[in-house]
Amino acid sequence: MRKIYITEDIKNHKKGIEILEKLSSYEVVESEKTFIDMILSKNLSYEEEKKYMLFTVKKGKFLKKYHLDKQFLGIKEEYYLSYENNCPFNCLYCYLRDYFSHGAFVFYVNLEDMFSELDGFTKKMSMISAGIVNDSLVLDSITNVTKDLLDYFKNRKDLVLELRTKSHNIKNLLELEPIENLLVSFTFSPQEIIDRYELKSSSLEARIEAARKLQEKGYSLGLRFDPIINIESRKLHYGKMIDKVFQNLDCAKIRDIGIGGLRYKKGLRQKVLAERNTDLFFNELVIGIDGKERYFKKIRIDMYKEMTEKIKLYGDFDVYLGMEPKYVWDQIF
Ligand code: SF4
Repeated sequence: MRKIYITEDIKNHKKGIEILEKLSSYEVVESEKTFIDMILSKNLSYEEEKKYMLFTVKKGKFLKKYHLDKQFLGIKEEYYLSYENNCPFNCLYCYLRDYFSHGAFVFYVNLEDMFSELDGFTKKMSMISAGIVNDSLVLDSITNVTKDLLDYFKNRKDLVLELRTKSHNIKNLLELEPIENLLVSFTFSPQEIIDRYELKSSSLEARIEAARKLQEKGYSLGLRFDPIINIESRKLHYGKMIDKVFQNLDCAKIRDIGIGGLRYKKGLRQKVLAERNTDLFFNELVIGIDGKERYFKKIRIDMYKEMTEKIKLYGDFDVYLGMEPKYVWDQIF
């Protein structure tokens, strides 16, 4: 069961009032810091921390630039919005375990401040992701933030908005009118991977069905096969998954495809293993220039080749690799 907290100042904001109308019960905390201190003092498991939610007001900036080591080729989602942190799913490889000090969900209601910050951002055709430190859709039934985002970005044709998800919560999007400069990116993994490492997230079938319905409604999609995990019979599992995805979607409405291999900061392995038994890290891994562990180069190149060759069977797509150096790109494309 979720444990919901708010700070009093959310009542001064339109989105705060809207959310309060939906909440049947909650407790009040003095500040985000008080909330985090309270969570940390409980010594909960990461999964238990995820049951906590806070709605509050952000004091800092919403728009952030993705930090990427110079050795890697650029990624499309160079900027991201941080109006919410964390998500209720529990992907064992999730880098947010390392990024935030806790697993609780935090939503900042002062969206008007985020939009005025965006008003001052003029780097044309930048892709701004709303799913880097969160899942863009999973809690949209409470926040309804997709409506605010689409309302703003429909008048910012100079920017591209990305929503990114492992959920099938598309109810609000189906009620809205798609806008051209929006990309809804679904991360797809074989069901075997979802069962083992993407705990509590939507099934492969449900993600495909949600993506299909959005295409029907007129949304354009991004497909993310990231992170690919080197499990036994990898080629078979990923091959079957690609068939399922492409046979159910309209290939003409796929805007781009991102592929990446498992990578994580070293500390994450200890954190996850302290809480559960998993074979996620039992593989040939190497520490990269950015301090993250990755599969050996040969494994990564093999994985990407398998994926791109299979994808090619369905069409000529704009495919890119996530966080890989030029010499890996050169081998794949
Ligand atoms: S869905 Fe994304 S944000 Fe949520 S736990 Fe998984 S990787 Fe992390």
